[in-house]
Amino acid sequence: MSQKISNWIGGIPAAPQQGRFFENRNPATNEIIALVPQSDGSDVDAAVRAAQSALPAWRATSPAERADLLDAVADCIEGRLEEFAVLESQDQGKPVGLARRVDIPRAISNFRFFASAVRQFSAESYVMPGALNYTSRKPIGVVGLITPWNLPLYLLSWKTAPALAMGNCIVAKPSELTPLTANALAEVFTDIGAPPGIFNLVQGMGADCGQAIVAHPNIKAVSFTGGTATGRSVAATGAPLFKKLSLELGGKNASVVFADCDFEKTVSGTVRAGFANQGEICLCGSRVLVERSIYDRFKAAFTEKVAALKVGDPADEATQIGALNSLAHREKVSSYIDLAQEEGGTLLTGGTRPNLSGALKDGAFLNPTVIDGLSINSRTATEEIFGPVVTLHPFDSEDEAVQMANNTRYGLSASVWTQDLGKAHRVSDALEVGMVWVNTWLMRDLRVPFGGVKESGVGREGGRWSLEFYSENKNTCIKVD
Ligand code: NAP
Repeated sequence: MSQKISNWIGGIPAAPQQGRFFENRNPATNEIIALVPQSDGSDVDAAVRAAQSALPAWRATSPAERADLLDAVADCIEGRLEEFAVLESQDQGKPVGLARRVDIPRAISNFRFFASAVRQFSAESYVMPGALNYTSRKPIGVVGLITPWNLPLYLLSWKTAPALAMGNCIVAKPSELTPLTANALAEVFTDIGAPPGIFNLVQGMGADCGQAIVAHPNIKAVSFTGGTATGRSVAATGAPLFKKLSLELGGKNASVVFADCDFEKTVSGTVRAGFANQGEICLCGSRVLVERSIYDRFKAAFTEKVAALKVGDPADEATQIGALNSLAHREKVSSYIDLAQEEGGTLLTGGTRPNLSGALKDGAFLNPTVIDGLSINSRTATEEIFGPVVTLHPFDSEDEAVQMANNTRYGLSASVWTQDLGKAHRVSDALEVGMVWVNTWLMRDLRVPFGGVKESGVGREGGRWSLEFYSENKNTCIKVD
């Protein structure tokens, strides 16, 4: 059933000023599920004004009051968990079970975590002969939050919670492809009686609405998660305006498998790393590097497990691989499968569309795909595909494994699979990435720093790094004589 959604400005629904809307489709059925405001700079400007009006009172609240509000948001989402999970699945294409077990509970955890974090956040002091320095963290003001389509509510909550915790007001823009849970989150703020204007939501396209947020002179910081090319454009616009920028960008992550790994756990772990959320997670291990002595055995076991993944209706609890986020994205991913074959790769499984019927016959489905025989320098093995496609590559030595893993312009994350602790340390140390998992993948502790190096981004979020990004550190020096 299709709904017409609004922007949320000053705590109330607001139609786009130009009166334009665009269609939002369920990628599993290609049906229109919502009409979405196609906002422009005038809507962003109205949202910024609402945020500025709310700012003096909001920044004057105590950390404990802000924490209470974040807890109330968490409670309200939790009360509507099933509705949020269904919306996320219909909008994004992911299995509803995944949204129910992971995306929505983790969004709730983000609000609870940052509520607790800001209650405990403390200042620093530096005593010197004749004087005492103390630091205080000041809100930045109005901040812009721009999020992608792969983990819509999770990533929006990951930015919203610390930004509010530190006393800022928000203008947020979700991806045009996944507007629905952001809209429901805005409803939550109004339902719990949050001060109007602390959280403003403007829906629309990146090139006009997103760009207007980055360019707005009264938005003092932008936290952006998305592709590297878009991140470059955000930096080009924001840096000359001296905005604080956090850029969480793309990845081409390696899973590095040594012969001394726990074989069964490694096969399961690397399949999960490659194909969770249809491979549409920036952290997915899309290149699996395997020590040559176990390459053939690993290849057979990995391929068998991937071929057995259940692809189908995202609304079915048993589904493991849902729809890709759009037909256009499936075309992009499929074009890489064609390219891989032109580059000399062999398809071990997948590469085709599943034969689904009824409402799902026009959905953006693609069978999970495993390819080997490609050079580590090939485009398929170095460019981000962001879909259910994994390439396998043999290596002969620890040094070669590290060299291959680092052979990309990206540097987001990696996983290392070995039972030799010394090797795990050495390899982790040599990998040019922001995050390494050993014998696991995507085990998240919200206190740890999150972010990438090279073209995977600038800055860190998570834990105190988020609280620091969303505030300005001020030093006061008092002479004591
Ligand atoms: P994207 O095309 O870069 O879009 C991200 C967001 O930016 C969307 O809201 C988009 O709006 C908006 N946008 C587009 N052009 C803009 C502009 N000129 N100015 C300001 N905003 C603009 O990325 P995506 O395709 O949604 O997401 C996939 C990418 O995100 C992948 O590269 C993935 O690796 C990355 N990602 C990174 C992380 C991380 O933490 N490092 C996490 C998740 C995803 P529209 O959707 O309306 O175009």
